[in-house]
Amino acid sequence: MKRYFGIVFVFKKSCTFAAVKILIQTRMDAIQMVDLKNQHNKIKHEINAAINEVLDSAAFVKGRKIKEFETALADFLNVKHAISVGNGTDALQIALMALELKAGDEVIVPNFTFIASAEVIALLGLIPVFADVDYDTFNINADSVKTAISPKTKAIIPVHLFGQAANMEKINKLAKDYNLFVVEDNAQAIGAEYIFSEGKRKKLGTMGNLGCTSFFPSKNLGCCGDGGAIFTDNDILAEKIRTIANHGMKTRYYHEILGVNSRLDTLQAAILNVKLPHLKEYCEKRYEAAMYYNNALADLQQVITPLISDYSTHVFHQYTLKIQNGKRNELKVFLESRNIPAMIYYPVPLHKQNVFKFSAHAGDILSVSERLCDEVLSLPMHTELSKEQQDYIANAIKEFFNK
Ligand SMILES: *Cc1c(COP(=O)(O)O)cnc(C)c1O
Repeated sequence: MKRYFGIVFVFKKSCTFAAVKILIQTRMDAIQMVDLKNQHNKIKHEINAAINEVLDSAAFVKGRKIKEFETALADFLNVKHAISVGNGTDALQIALMALELKAGDEVIVPNFTFIASAEVIALLGLIPVFADVDYDTFNINADSVKTAISPKTKAIIPVHLFGQAANMEKINKLAKDYNLFVVEDNAQAIGAEYIFSEGKRKKLGTMGNLGCTSFFPSKNLGCCGDGGAIFTDNDILAEKIRTIANHGMKTRYYHEILGVNSRLDTLQAAILNVKLPHLKEYCEKRYEAAMYYNNALADLQQVITPLISDYSTHVFHQYTLKIQNGKRNELKVFLESRNIPAMIYYPVPLHKQNVFKFSAHAGDILSVSERLCDEVLSLPMHTELSKEQQDYIANAIKEFFNK
């Protein structure tokens, strides 16, 4: 899209000169789902310096930067332990390993989420049991969790999907009543806060027995490769997690339990040390962009903009619409014809995925997630969106519905 400022004359009363800017032609940046390049450019010098420091030190694994980042992250979240690992999926797997569940034990997980939340359960010989989600928030529905609980249930994995909390007061109450572990999948909502009924706040990822996150580049706090972390206030679990992530050894070459090799590399920790102080600002920018979309799309009857629940802040990892006239796929194609990317997170609920045909079962009727898979459409959402780009996107959507 081209925009012309035209010819601008700036006259100063007392002067005889006129500053003339001749025909400046600007071109709106191509719209992307996530714009990592422009975000990076703003902190490039700091990141380069941090990377060079690691290269010069040659401490590539478990360097000082790792400790520095883990401490900063734990402080930010107000949690006792933050343990860095190789990626978010490893974080979930190691968290479950630390709970020492037995083959055949059941773990309840929402069926509307990224596959990682559930695949780690099955990988460990545990049984994923799917719960439905709330239509308004996309997050696990506590009543559905309750019906999914059986004598074999040992844990619940609530996922804070798209940037806001699952209803943790209800989930934690169920966990207490039925003696279950809670492992939060906070890969999409780092920085968001839970708002308790009495007003107190707590960072997501620090409310269950264990919390997990991912630093995949497109997440709200992303590194330049793979990374993840596990959070807990429990000293014993923290030590066990460190041991598991390091081949099950505390003393070198003495292996006490079955472990894996999963570590954040020092270069990524150095990069995350630079980016963590920006997280608050990044979340605010996403929130601002979301409010701008909400406002621009408010009049469209068949488009449901994201709802923010009263028990959570929202860091808008995704900005996800529900298209209620059955034309979601057509809208997506239309937007793409205007060079606007849009994504379907997620097209198939987990209980309908081939991989889970035999190894899992649904704890309840899962109709909400099935409906969501037909209606959801995520718009470009990142820290570098301009109002001009958002107007262009909103106008295209309006044009589609007014055709
Ligand atoms: C990204 C993501 C993960 C996995 O993180 P990786 O670092 O890619 O392994 C897990 N759960 C959810 C909800 C995610 O969005």
